[in-house]
Amino acid sequence: MKNTFEHALPNAQGYFGEYGGSFIPEELQKVMDDINTAYNECRQDPEFQSELARLYKHFVGRPSPIFHAENLSKKYGTPIYLKREDLNHTGAHKINHCLGEALIAKKMGKQKLIAETGAGQHGVALATAAALVGLECDIYMGEVDIAKEHPNVVRMRILGANVIPATHGRKTLKEAVDAAFEAYLKDPINQLYAIGSVVGPHPFPMMVRDFQSIIGNEARVQFQEMTGTLPDNLVACVGGGSNAMGLFTAFLEDKSVAIHGVEPAGRSLTQVGEHAATLSLGEPGVMHGFKSYMLKDEQGEPQLVHSVASGLDYPSVGPQHSYLKDSGRVQYGTANDQEAIDAFFELSRCEGIIPAIESAHAVAYAIKLAQQGEQGSILLNLSGRGDKDIDFVVENYGCDYGIESLI
Ligand SMILES: *Cc1c(COP(=O)(O)O)cnc(C)c1O
Repeated sequence: MKNTFEHALPNAQGYFGEYGGSFIPEELQKVMDDINTAYNECRQDPEFQSELARLYKHFVGRPSPIFHAENLSKKYGTPIYLKREDLNHTGAHKINHCLGEALIAKKMGKQKLIAETGAGQHGVALATAAALVGLECDIYMGEVDIAKEHPNVVRMRILGANVIPATHGRKTLKEAVDAAFEAYLKDPINQLYAIGSVVGPHPFPMMVRDFQSIIGNEARVQFQEMTGTLPDNLVACVGGGSNAMGLFTAFLEDKSVAIHGVEPAGRSLTQVGEHAATLSLGEPGVMHGFKSYMLKDEQGEPQLVHSVASGLDYPSVGPQHSYLKDSGRVQYGTANDQEAIDAFFELSRCEGIIPAIESAHAVAYAIKLAQQGEQGSILLNLSGRGDKDIDFVVENYGCDYGIESLI
């Protein structure tokens, strides 16, 4: 590693090496600068930090436990541990950064939070934070995802948020990002665009990472308490990359810890539009206001992407992941749709835990590591629970697992 204070990145301009930065219209740059200033104040403000800590503990239910998955460990011949972000209020890690963003918006005097959502998890977490903190909330979501993730759409509406469909292109996450961005440009002063991962222009990749780093900070202490040592391997799925950065950050300088990010290989890695393996197959470029690896088509536009997990369905990735890939500190591999579905049932039936399909990619990869002969311990981030996915999985894959339609 080039830099021993790696997690002190990014620099003042928001760069992680050559990635990150801020590629946005001038009038928006001023707004981003204000958010950056407000965030840096909050970061050093004991009152802000203690309010966030109070909400993490009493509202989210942190610290989330680490569970030693003994059945899975026995079956695959290596110790596997799960960081249980699935147990958080609202069912995933996203509440960690949504609460932070909502508190910052409130502090800045904004009236409304707006965001895009893929699986609906970011939308639910943000609508929850908005309700708690007392802000309005508009959520943009692809029409395809609205149909697929119906329970989350209902949740957001119950929580008082407006759910606005994105109806162009593939009608999934990327289109939702476009629609939300357009709406944001109309009134960036009174709204805060609460980005849902470690992506977007500076300061978002840094800010969302910092809020999520509670995962690894807890896990590093908990794992040592449980086992007396550090884990040999970390595994997390990578969509935009927030749950992965959340787990990885505390361990970046622990040379003995191998770190693995898992991208979605979808239906096929060799066909454009059938995967979203950005770091594995993409190249550096600029999109959605930041520089990072991305999947481009021949015109240099974002490629169509696919994953069975709506939350992983994104043609770029957080800039710090691009930096960590190039520096070699993190290895990026893949799990495909079928492997994720198999792991979804495996964890459910082996351990009594139904994972989010996104998190099932990490489970699948941990199993692959074990099958390839890895003997060291594996700590994987179970980023969310699978309640939102059960209807989709049973409808599309149930018959492979002996579940006939009940209707
Ligand atoms: C959104 C989501 C992801 C993907 O987002 P990251 O920013 O890559 O973490 C992963 N798991 C779950 C459960 C999600 O809801």
